[in-house]
Amino acid sequence: MKRLTGFQPTGNLHLGNLLGAMRPLVQEQQEGTSIAMIADLHAMTMEHDPQVLRRKTLEVATLLLAAGVDPKRTALIAHSQIPEHTELHYLLECVCHFGEAARMIQFKEKSAAGGPVRLSLLSYPVLMAADILVHDVDQVPVGDDQNQHLELARTLATRFNARYGETFVVPEGVRPESAARIMDLADPAAKMSKSARSSAGRIGLLDPPETIRRTISRAVTDTVGIVRHDPEHQPGVTNLLAILAECTGEAPGAYTSYGALKRDVTDAVETLLAPIRKRYAELADDPGYVREILAEGKALVRPAALATVRRARSAIGLLD
Ligand code: AMP
Repeated sequence: MKRLTGFQPTGNLHLGNLLGAMRPLVQEQQEGTSIAMIADLHAMTMEHDPQVLRRKTLEVATLLLAAGVDPKRTALIAHSQIPEHTELHYLLECVCHFGEAARMIQFKEKSAAGGPVRLSLLSYPVLMAADILVHDVDQVPVGDDQNQHLELARTLATRFNARYGETFVVPEGVRPESAARIMDLADPAAKMSKSARSSAGRIGLLDPPETIRRTISRAVTDTVGIVRHDPEHQPGVTNLLAILAECTGEAPGAYTSYGALKRDVTDAVETLLAPIRKRYAELADDPGYVREILAEGKALVRPAALATVRRARSAIGLLD
């Protein structure tokens, strides 16, 4: 079963990304079947700064390695370094209807923000389909927000296969078993997110210990005064308990105060993040190494990607 997990190099990766996407990837990585992609092209659908994009692409690659992605078992790739993604994108645009792209919720939301809308914001779900199909991926870990895009990839693969002959593997969406949904510590009704306007409730993977301690000590709780799992009435406390359980791998013990719970959550998060931060600092000292790993990833996946594009070109009627 081939799996592709994508990470956008925008904003700062946080504890939710680690527990919900990076750790499952690390736990399940297997030689020949695991691909981790830094989706730099997807980070260009909104106004962007070239310097920041390049820096963030390397930062995310470095963080993935620091968090345990093993380049011997996972092909770590930068989206734009594999031209077959964009070549297949155009072929898939030729089987995608305008209305299908225009009804994507993320397009509607982001294009409604005002200002010029890049055409790539409309078409990037088709590029995402190309990313998945070009590698013959069977399984894509998806959260709720990506379901619609995965459905589009399935629709385009099925339509292409039916119209031009069996060419693509039709991918399935899977939910990583351990994927907890980590909520914002300052607003436990919202998911911890890279794009939240305020960083007050977000634990960045590279935050210094002092910042983590402060963020957790200020986490929103309630006035109930009992530590228990009750997502409806006590979402803040429930989130802290979930973070504790995810970080330690154990069911939390009994607590008589919110302060004691927060201290244990702080220790558990710090125990999880300290080695990642340390390894990140070592790797970031040698950006040449990370670039080499990306070049190795590219060499690993490219032959199969080329073969898929050749199959698609031939099926759709292009010359060799
Ligand atoms: P992003 O690029 O930040 O939207 O997220 C990349 C992936 O990280 C998502 O597809 C999720 O699997 C995971 N993720 C993001 N935020 C959270 C969260 N708050 N809790 C759990 N998983 C998350």
